Amino acid sequence: MQKLNPYEFALASFDKVAATLDMDPGILKKIRVVNRELVVNFPVFMDDGAIEMFTGFRVQHDISRGPAKGGIRYHPTVDLDTIRALAMFMTWKTALVQIPFGGAKGGVQCNPKQMSLGEIERLTRRFISEISFIIGPESDIPAPDVYTNAQVMAWIMDTYSMMKGYSVPGVVTGKPISIGGTLGRQEATGNGCFYCTAFAADRLGMDLSRATVAIQGFGNVGSVSAMRLSEVGAKIIAASDSQGGLVNLNGLDVEALIKHKEKTGTVVGFPDGDPVGSVDVLTVPCDVLIPAAMENVITMDNVDRISTKIIIEGANGPTIPDADEALYQRDVLVVPDILANAGGVVVSYFEWVQNIQKLTWRENEINDRMKEIIYTAFASVFDLHRLKKVSLRDAALTLAIGRVAQATADRGIYP
Ligand code: NAD
Repeated sequence: MQKLNPYEFALASFDKVAATLDMDPGILKKIRVVNRELVVNFPVFMDDGAIEMFTGFRVQHDISRGPAKGGIRYHPTVDLDTIRALAMFMTWKTALVQIPFGGAKGGVQCNPKQMSLGEIERLTRRFISEISFIIGPESDIPAPDVYTNAQVMAWIMDTYSMMKGYSVPGVVTGKPISIGGTLGRQEATGNGCFYCTAFAADRLGMDLSRATVAIQGFGNVGSVSAMRLSEVGAKIIAASDSQGGLVNLNGLDVEALIKHKEKTGTVVGFPDGDPVGSVDVLTVPCDVLIPAAMENVITMDNVDRISTKIIIEGANGPTIPDADEALYQRDVLVVPDILANAGGVVVSYFEWVQNIQKLTWRENEINDRMKEIIYTAFASVFDLHRLKKVSLRDAALTLAIGRVAQATADRGIYP
């Protein structure tokens, strides 16, 4: 087994692309490292009256293009290097889609599946009060990520607002509509994955209405992507979550599967599919593979068994660099995370704009603008990929890192 450190991988992909850029090495040195990182150890009362200690992180990688932006994750595997890597991806993602944000990420090492709603609420409120001095609508704006949702965002907004003494909806995105959330945010990342799949299929001359799709991770990103793809006729032949997976070569009934997961908390036990392991879904032969769960799942241990034409990285960092290179050599078109899942941060940006301007946009306006932004980014990445004969990932990173480096150079080094 390879040792998998997401931050080392994030730095390796930065170094590979940075070496090809005609930029001041000093500027590249500055944007290679994380700007700020805060680690907090804090207590929470559990339901049985016991005090439990938790460790949380908020990392701001770069703020040269605007306030830091990035999700908050609740998961047992959360650690500083994972959060650093995810913060760095956010910097490149916001630059790639040209929205005026920097990159951040946060998380708490915990297992929310084994906690009550009350425990998760108390953990959220204490964590946010611990990091409150570095977040804010002008400085750093959290959002949902793995095992956090609109309810958690509402508690974040409320806690921050209580500390300020007035309501601050712009401190967080992905909130419920009732407190300043935007239409279209819940589905935004999956919709963005769907648009990227459609653009990629179009470039390869693949008929999406006849395509077969396998999806790892049937949460927010995976299930929305599945729904949108099945609506245009694609067959979702495999899907999995943390508890297991399913295969049905005739195509899964996505709507029924979503209802089953809502009712039981897992795709496992869905009657209309054969059970397989969570990771086995990645190696089911298909036209489109969407890893939409966690990082480092496509590795040298399974890359040779992956049989697909397009990979849409719904998750952040699902492919380790060596496996990425192997896929490129095999002509598998990998649409990288910073492009494939950028729909979420684009609509988060729209939510923040509505909050600070105190107005609301219509849903079709939000979706149309997001689609246009994703298309513009996709087209520029694809053109560079063809022109320079590099992977889509290297093309995307070239554009993104170049923009962050330019912003840093234009601002100059303080003092
Ligand atoms: P989620 O919590 O809604 O869903 C995660 C899903 O992955 C769940 O179904 C879970 O059971 C499954 N999962 C966890 N571990 C797994 C494993 N080992 N094997 C198979 N399935 C597993 O989270 P989400 O918001 O859908 O996020 C999924 C990925 O997308 C993450 O990498 C996240 O960083 C990325 N992402 C999310 C957003 C967003 O807006 N939600 C935006 C950009 C990127």
